Amino acid sequence: MGRGTVCLSFDFDAYSIWINRRMVSPGYLSRGEFGATAVPRILRLLGDRGIPSTWFVPGHTVETFGGLCRQILDGGHEVALHGYVHEAVSSLSPEQERDVFQRSHEILTRLAGKPPRGNRTPSWDLTPHTIPILLELGLVYDSSLMSNDYAPFYARQGYEAPADGPFVWGEPTSLVELPVSWSLDDYPHFEYHNTGTSVLPGLRMADHVFTNFFDDVRYMVRDFVDGVCVITFHPQVIGRGHRLLGLERFLDRLGELEIEFERMDQVAEAFRRGRAYGSWAPGSRT
Ligand SMILES: [Zn+2]
Repeated sequence: MGRGTVCLSFDFDAYSIWINRRMVSPGYLSRGEFGATAVPRILRLLGDRGIPSTWFVPGHTVETFGGLCRQILDGGHEVALHGYVHEAVSSLSPEQERDVFQRSHEILTRLAGKPPRGNRTPSWDLTPHTIPILLELGLVYDSSLMSNDYAPFYARQGYEAPADGPFVWGEPTSLVELPVSWSLDDYPHFEYHNTGTSVLPGLRMADHVFTNFFDDVRYMVRDFVDGVCVITFHPQVIGRGHRLLGLERFLDRLGELEIEFERMDQVAEAFRRGRAYGSWAPGSRT
C-alpha cells in the first residue's frame, strides 16, 4: 500500500474574488492581478519537479486570463470549477446557483475541450442544493467539505438539521468528496486583509506555516495507510518570493516521506474504483 498521496491545489481567483466583494478599486484588483503574475512561476516550479496538480479556476478568470489557463492545462495539470466570479453560493437563490455552475461548466468545457470533473465552491460555501447540482452536471468529485482529513468519502444529500431533534444524515451520493481545511490553506495564514470592520492579519513566517502543513502530512504517513492530504494555495498569495522558497523547502521535505503527488481527478477516480484511501492504523509505522 502507498505511504500516502498529497494533492497540491491552486485556486486561481485573480480578479474574481475582489469583484465578488465589490472591491474594484485599482489597489484591490492589483492584488488579484498578481495571481496571474505568479502563475508562470508556480508552473515552472511544479514542472521542474514533475509534480501534477489541480487548479480551481473561476469562469471569470478563464475569460480574462485564457492564455495562462491553457498553459496550466498544457503542463498536464487539471482545471476544475470554482464559480463564475467567486460567488458565495449561500447568497444566491437555487436558480442563480444552478446558473452559475452551468455557466462556469460551459466556460471550462470550452477551455479544455472536455467537461471538468471536479468542483471547489468559493470560500467553501455550500447550500443544500450544491451537491445535487454537481451531480446533475455529471461531476466526479467536490473538494469543499471538512468532515475528514485523510480519507475521501461520498458526499451526502438530503440532510436535515432541526434545532429541536436529532440530526438527519441524508443519503450518500456518487459524488466523491476530497476534504479540505482552513488550516491547510495558505490564504488565512499569509494574506493581510483589512476590510474596515475586520482585519485578517496574515503575514506569517513561511516556514512556520509549512511546518504545520508538513506535520499534517507526517501524521498521515505515520498513522494512516494510503491517506490523501489536500493542500490549498492561491497564486496571489503563495506567489511571493519568500513563500515560494518556503514551498520549495516544503516539497523537498515531503520527498523524504516518499509520498506521491496526484491530481485530484485521478484520486477521485481511483476511490470510485475501490481504492481504500486513508485507513486509520496507529502504531503501524513510526
Ligand atoms: Zn477562491
